[in-house]
Amino acid sequence: MSGRQLLVERIRDGTVIDHIPAGRALIVLRILGITGREGLRVAVVMNVESRKLGRKDIVKIENRHLSPEEVNKIALVAPTATINIVRGYEVVEKRKVELPETLENVLRCTNPTCITRKPREPVKPRFRLVSRRPVRLQCIYCGSIIDERDVLEQLVSGSG
Ligand SMILES: [Zn+2]
Repeated sequence: MSGRQLLVERIRDGTVIDHIPAGRALIVLRILGITGREGLRVAVVMNVESRKLGRKDIVKIENRHLSPEEVNKIALVAPTATINIVRGYEVVEKRKVELPETLENVLRCTNPTCITRKPREPVKPRFRLVSRRPVRLQCIYCGSIIDERDVLEQLVSGSG
């Protein structure tokens, strides 16, 4: 970014989610439950040039930090993303999102007869990571595979 004009002003404190695959910024906001009505200053930059990705999206959110569960959800839809924590206009921490080998409670199994879907005494859903790109996960209990489409459907409609 040095020497080039910034598209949006810097934030003082908050989170910058960078290297989001182009076109996924709004999905990331959806996952975080950010609608704009919270009064937070949010900047969304879409389809800017990226050396690594060709094109990328960036989301900047002032005065908001992410929980580990939110970071996992972002990793599911934006595996290339980096999370920058900003304090006093400085990036104090920068890390890549990384999907854990097992994911608990974030997604539900698509198999209606799975033990995790039992109306009484359901077991917490748990998935094993089969592939990162494209993302594929397998239910530990029934073996059902859920793919990127299921993930997007659940994360985007589920949090509404
Ligand atoms: Zn299952």
